[in-house]
Amino acid sequence: MTKDVNLTEPLKQYFGFDSFKGDQEAIIRNLLAGNDTFVLMPTGGGKSLCYQLPSLLMEGTAIVISPLIALMKNQVDVMNGMSEDGCTAHYLNSSLNKAAIQQVINDVKRGATKLLYVAPESLGKDENVEFLQSIKVSFYAVDEAHCISEWGHDFRPEYRNIRPTISRIGQAPVIALTATATDKVRSDIKKNLGIGEALEFKSSFNRPNLYYEVRSKTQEVDRNIIMFIKQHAGKSGIIYCLSRKKVEELSAILKANNIKAEPYHAGLDSATRSQTQDDFLMERIDVIVATIAFGMGIDKPDVRFVIHYDIPKSLEGYYQETGRAGRDGGEGLCITFYSNKDLQKLEKFMEGKPVSEQDIGRQLLLETAAYAESSVCRRKMLLHYFGEEYTEDNCHNCDNCLHPKTKREAKEALLIVLKA
Ligand code: ADP
Ligand code: MG
Repeated sequence: MTKDVNLTEPLKQYFGFDSFKGDQEAIIRNLLAGNDTFVLMPTGGGKSLCYQLPSLLMEGTAIVISPLIALMKNQVDVMNGMSEDGCTAHYLNSSLNKAAIQQVINDVKRGATKLLYVAPESLGKDENVEFLQSIKVSFYAVDEAHCISEWGHDFRPEYRNIRPTISRIGQAPVIALTATATDKVRSDIKKNLGIGEALEFKSSFNRPNLYYEVRSKTQEVDRNIIMFIKQHAGKSGIIYCLSRKKVEELSAILKANNIKAEPYHAGLDSATRSQTQDDFLMERIDVIVATIAFGMGIDKPDVRFVIHYDIPKSLEGYYQETGRAGRDGGEGLCITFYSNKDLQKLEKFMEGKPVSEQDIGRQLLLETAAYAESSVCRRKMLLHYFGEEYTEDNCHNCDNCLHPKTKREAKEALLIVLKA
């Protein structure tokens, strides 16, 4: 594809956008030129377009590897809404029956499909590999590429098989995309996908509209949360707890206090979960009390607060979970409750795991604890964690910048935390 091909026209024609966001255009040009490409962009940055647009311009079918069936269906519906014959995009995953799979195969074979979304566990199946070997692949897109790494917040072992499977199917450029930007995850992705030479596009991970605060967790925590929600009545929020049991308990307490809340965790049946998710999106309820099973791929732009009832297991997870607040650029309050007791509980919990996992888990946890106990600007610390330097003296939007503690107060606060 020539260097000076006009991309603004197809952007407008297919997606209705007037201009590219951030690095989108450079990313797309790099891929069109046939190069491996690595995209690090925060949630909401516009990663999907970086593979959707070039797939429409290139010969053959782009294979998009994506972890979530619900997300896949949603993206496919959107893409197909834009084309006349409604079969620009398809997906292959465990939710399809034989007839549906045959339909997909027929469409791909007659060249009507520009994008084929495949779940990582489906990709490696012999019959799919055989089928994919028989078609022209324009490129491979690995979305949510951090799932490859144990250092990420959502490790999925199937992701490790992507490279070997791609090699079986056939050579084509690879674009990997993630909203995770720590060095360890980054190098894991490159190594595992064999894209060491890929050009890297990294955007800033700063979310200026998010307010970060850490509170010490005391006996009063439930009352604190109820008060907070009542002060933000009618606003949408998510409360993350570590255990399903706590999710159930807390949502019951909130309901008893006339707050429109529902629990969400992987132990609930899928009909209940999708009902709760719909109720939240449609604002029939205000608050979701959830384990981290809730959130990936949920695009509610006006979530106004994210509360961590328990300290998250990693700063990475904390960043992703708080990142679900204020996606529309409006207010996003991120409050975390922290106590030393919780920290010890988590450490104890890890004892049952394999040693290598324990080591990783401990280190991630310690980084979170250091963040919680620090009196340095939260934004500065978070961005530092992603290898980004924040040079402002005062972000004006975190507890440590808005209410700097005197040395004595800081020490006292720490003592309370240590005793709790
Ligand atoms: P990510 O995968 O990085 O979290 P998405 O691909 O879901 O982000 O895109 C986030 C939002 O940005 C979507 O609503 C999408 O339609 C919108 N978007 C993407 N590119 C553009 C653009 N060039 N102009 C305007 N909106 C865009
Ligand atoms: Mg995405």
